[in-house]
Formats: sequence, structure tokens, C-alpha cells
Amino acid sequence: MSESGGLNPERILRLASMVLMVMTLRERSANVGDQNQAALAFPEPGSSEGSYGHPNLCSRPCVLFLRGTCEEGAGCGFCHSAHLQKPASFDKTQRKIVKSWSAVKLLEAILPHLRAKVKAIHHPGAGVLLELLQRELALRGPTNHSTGTAGVPSQIHRVLARMSVVALVGILASKLKGPVAVLLKEALIDLRKQVADP
Ligand SMILES: [Zn+2]
Ligand SMILES: [Zn+2]
Repeated sequence: MSESGGLNPERILRLASMVLMVMTLRERSANVGDQNQAALAFPEPGSSEGSYGHPNLCSRPCVLFLRGTCEEGAGCGFCHSAHLQKPASFDKTQRKIVKSWSAVKLLEAILPHLRAKVKAIHHPGAGVLLELLQRELALRGPTNHSTGTAGVPSQIHRVLARMSVVALVGILASKLKGPVAVLLKEALIDLRKQVADP
């Protein structure tokens, strides 16, 4: 059998695998198209409960909505509006470091970031959150051992800078616990409502 143009078994196999590959690619792009359709057919972006206060005060983006498979609709607790950036979170090592901090150190590390973000929201109600936290810091310290933000690794500062107000308040609330955690969550809910319907 000649090599040029003849259909030897090797060539047939190669052709068959090429056809398969093209078919798979086509199927895949068809699926992507379906997903886009599903996303378009969904309720207006921003209509979920988690979208209130978007982009600064909303919940984390809804992963299911992005895939076009969120069935919660308006009742979904996650944000259905477009987020350009992936929400920032600590890696394992950073989480361990932050967990080892005292409440005072955590407050001192997070407050400057929260202050900057709240300022950017330009809403009078946003000040309540800061007041609560500043009062808490005054009540708890700063202690003699306090080093301010000096001991905070720069990678952790970078993550904090990219976290949403909701994420930062969440970290603080779970560390502080008790009545102040409840007050923080209430202040956040109020603020989200105010921002959603001014
Ligand atoms: Zn959002
Ligand atoms: Zn959702």
C-alpha cells in the first residue's frame, strides 16, 4: 500500500479522532450557547435579595446564577449582578494568621480598609458601622501589646483591600461575637436597604 492518500489503518484512526475532536468542540460551544441563553432568560440582573447594595454592600456573587442554574430567583441570598473581580479571600496560611490575632489586632487591621470603603459608598448610614467598630476598639484597647497595623503582613493587607464591606464586617462579627456582632449585622442590613431604595 502506498503512503500517499491511501487509507491505511493509522490514517483512518487519525481521521476518526479528528472528527471526534471537532464534534466535541461543537458540542461544547453549543452548551456554552445554552448557558448564555439560560443566563439571559433569568430575572433581571440585580433582582436577587443578595444583590441589594451592589457592588459594595451586596453578598458574594451567586455561582449558580453565573452558570445559569440558580433556581432561587429573587429570593436568592447571593448577588445576581455582574462582578468584574473575583471576591478576595484569604489563603490557608493567611486565614491561620488572621485567626490567631486578638480582636483588637483584627480591628486595627481591618478598620483602615473599612473606613476607605465606607467613604467610597458616600452614604450617611455607612457611618454607623464605623462608629460601632471604633467604639468597640476604644472599649477593648488598644492594649500595651498593641502594634497597630505594623505587624500585619502586606499580603494580608492586599487581600483586605480587595474584600467587600460585607466580607470585612463578617470577619469582624465572627471574631467579636456577642451583642456587637448582632449590631454590626443589623447596621449592615439597614445600610443595604438604604442603598437599595434611597
Ligand atoms: Zn454584587
Ligand atoms: Zn442565585
